[in-house]
Amino acid sequence: MTPAELKALVRTIPDFPKAGIQFRDITTLIGHGPGFAATIEWLAREISGAEAIAGMEARGFIFGAAVAARLELPFIPIRKPGKLPCRVIGVDYELEYGVDRLEMDPQSIAQGQAVAIVDDLLATGGTAAAATELLRNAGGLVTRAAFVIDLPELGGREKLAERSVDVSALMN
Ligand code: IMP
Repeated sequence: MTPAELKALVRTIPDFPKAGIQFRDITTLIGHGPGFAATIEWLAREISGAEAIAGMEARGFIFGAAVAARLELPFIPIRKPGKLPCRVIGVDYELEYGVDRLEMDPQSIAQGQAVAIVDDLLATGGTAAAATELLRNAGGLVTRAAFVIDLPELGGREKLAERSVDVSALMN
């Protein structure tokens, strides 16, 4: 399938989760078997060379875990607070209103392991920048991140470039 055909599978929901936001909904993309498979193939090609894949809860799990399995690589879940049963490390990061936190198992990465980040959507880059910091604190080498969707006007690509992370996105 072409990138334009894949883009047509993403549904836009106006005013979700609040008025004025155009929510890009990937459930219609993953609900299309060939579209989901083509998306995973594309992401897997973009991050070739990685030794592990990290994905952020929740939609990053859908794409990241599938890419990891496709490449026969370990998958590292980056979770919301309080979900992991083991000892965790965490990082707090700024949202538009307030702060949020991501956590991971520091033992899920070998020192110096090349970890690529996968998520559904890049907006301001705050989530992916926090995941980068967390993975680096655990000893990972993070230089690549791949997204299904980039909202380029929100500056996420530039924010990650400042942190020496190269961004690929299947669609804008
Ligand atoms: P950022 O941290 O501003 O780059 O926002 C990206 C995070 O918010 C990702 O984890 C996305 O899953 C989520 N997100 C923001 N906007 C949307 C959207 O329109 N559709 C789906 N997820 C979104």
